[in-house]
Amino acid sequence: MNVSYRAELVGVFGCPIDENPTVVIQEAAFRALGLNYRYLTLLVRPEGLEDAFRGMRAMNFRGINLTVPHKVEALKYVDEVAPEVELIGATNTVVNENGRLIAYNTDGKGFVSGITSRGVSLSGKRIALLGAGGAARAVAAECALAGAASIVIIGRTAEKAQAIADILNRRTACAGSVQLWNGTAKLPPCDILINCTPVGLFPDPGCPDIDYDAITADMIVQDVIPNPADTLFLKKARERGAQALNGLDMLIGQAVIGFRLWTGLDPDPKVMKQAMIAEQNQG
Ligand code: NDP
Repeated sequence: MNVSYRAELVGVFGCPIDENPTVVIQEAAFRALGLNYRYLTLLVRPEGLEDAFRGMRAMNFRGINLTVPHKVEALKYVDEVAPEVELIGATNTVVNENGRLIAYNTDGKGFVSGITSRGVSLSGKRIALLGAGGAARAVAAECALAGAASIVIIGRTAEKAQAIADILNRRTACAGSVQLWNGTAKLPPCDILINCTPVGLFPDPGCPDIDYDAITADMIVQDVIPNPADTLFLKKARERGAQALNGLDMLIGQAVIGFRLWTGLDPDPKVMKQAMIAEQNQG
């Protein structure tokens, strides 16, 4: 009997992890292509990360996603890093090539593919970016590589924001600068405003503390938060006439790249997006 009952294993390590919806997106795409893959949502505490990587190698996982708080720490346990990981300093996707673990970062590329799929070109654009954590690092680096003219990092921790600006100035043609976020943030002149903080992420109903009246109708305002689909940040931007984009396309964009890295096949992004929207409508 020429049949294999062994599934290829992928998944995500994170803490907390229960509400991470990536399993819904990836398993819908595996089913659509008839692939015997399983995506496991795994609670891995910081002190367990090394063992989790050992286990992943022992069980011959094909790959793994990393989410908070593992994106930087995971770099200790891989064998090789892709060029964007070297730039960003964090990984969210690992591929197991015959026992050799290679780290990638698909967050920023997912962001760029999501926003450009909405007809927005980043070339020559002035960007204001709220937050200076992992998502901000990845988004800033890839927007710079995609041709953004300047990025102002608006952050409440000066060193973190400065570290991102330094990467942009040293390693890309994009001008990076820092605006310290102290009280209600004023907006620098910009074409695109991006929220890379978790403020407004379910169950938080709030919005980043910025001067919303500085948003104008010719601006594009993007939240990286995929849940809820319509954050207060986006509602306030839309009220002022701006084009408001949520984090769902970024989530799908990064999942598409991860799927491709693991399987070598192109998933159907529509299948992934429909699965995610159906899930959100249920919740
Ligand atoms: P981090 O914890 O690494 O960074 C969060 C950043 O936001 C930090 O710079 C932090 O400041 C800042 N911040 C937090 N609260 C506030 C506040 N009240 N006012 C001002 N700044 C604040 O998180 P991530 O970068 O990993 O994630 C950020 C968001 O991006 C999350 O909502 C996550 O869900 C989303 N995300 C979406 C993805 C998608 O595919 N759509 C992919 C990855 C992330 P400080 O440094 O001072 O603590």
